[in-house]
Amino acid sequence: NLLKGTIVKALSGYYYVRAKDDLPNSATVQCRARGVFKLKGLSPLVGDNVLYSLTENGEGTVEELLPRSSELIRPPVANIDLAILVFSVTEPALNLQLLDKFLVHIEHAGIPAVLCLSKRDLENDGLETEEAQAAAASVNRIYRPLGYEVYGTSSRLGEGIEPLQERLKGHLAVFAGQSGVGKSSLLNAIVPGLQLETNEISNRLGRGKHTTRHVELIEIGGGLVADTPGFSQLDFTELGIEDLGYCFVEMRKLSPNCKFRGCTHVHEPGCAVLEAIAKGEIEQSRHDHYVLFLAEMKEKKRRY
Ligand code: GDP
Ligand code: ZN
Repeated sequence: NLLKGTIVKALSGYYYVRAKDDLPNSATVQCRARGVFKLKGLSPLVGDNVLYSLTENGEGTVEELLPRSSELIRPPVANIDLAILVFSVTEPALNLQLLDKFLVHIEHAGIPAVLCLSKRDLENDGLETEEAQAAAASVNRIYRPLGYEVYGTSSRLGEGIEPLQERLKGHLAVFAGQSGVGKSSLLNAIVPGLQLETNEISNRLGRGKHTTRHVELIEIGGGLVADTPGFSQLDFTELGIEDLGYCFVEMRKLSPNCKFRGCTHVHEPGCAVLEAIAKGEIEQSRHDHYVLFLAEMKEKKRRY
């Protein structure tokens, strides 16, 4: 009599499994995993879809892991199918190079990404309103045409929250973005009742946030969100130099038109990407960052 569910938390040898059907959030079953997993070298991950059985004491046993569609290392979560990449319009200032670096890693993981411009209240209020407006405009101008959805939010004013809630429905999502852009505040705004520590609180208590916490999936209206941000480590160790072009959507699309197979889109004659840049069809900053990352990767390869 096997039931289907998703592991939403792993703690001290227990797996907390949420039933697949429409049971309310409280209906998680505390499960042990069968020893057979250890024999096979498998270890259940948060996010895993599993088959489990109920034992007499109301607990359960994870009997089988269903195939994973993706596996993130930090935080360790399986089956993530949406990344919300958060960038603030200011405080900290928008950094397009960092944004592209995040996108490269998310694309490489094969996870669909949407962008979220946070702290939009600072476009009308504060010391850097012009900078904030320009930041929002450039993200919209550059990334929408590439096919990325761009959401705008202000957790402070509670604005733009609902469309994001809608977007998360039916997904297992992770938030990404540099520290201080407002990811925790956004999650708190999106998930009623959630009270993740935000920066000012952890500063006051004199400790960093997310220190010893384990990743947990939070339910929001038929979707699940990891309560720990993803893609916090952005070195290029897991990426091959030949993979980089693939992680820039516009280059991925054009590379079949390049004259040479394995074109690196830097100096080759007949390069469709360079031609598109010359015609103004590809944003210069995107290619600049591509070249920069390529150099960074080569430098790493040289050193190790
Ligand atoms: P995280 O590190 O990405 O999780 O960022 P936090 O959620 O901890 O927020 C970092 C700082 O930005 C805190 O001081 C928040 O109060 C502030 N912040 C978060 N959201 C907003 C917002 O919508 N508007 C403004 N003005 N500040 C915000
Ligand atoms: Zn090329």
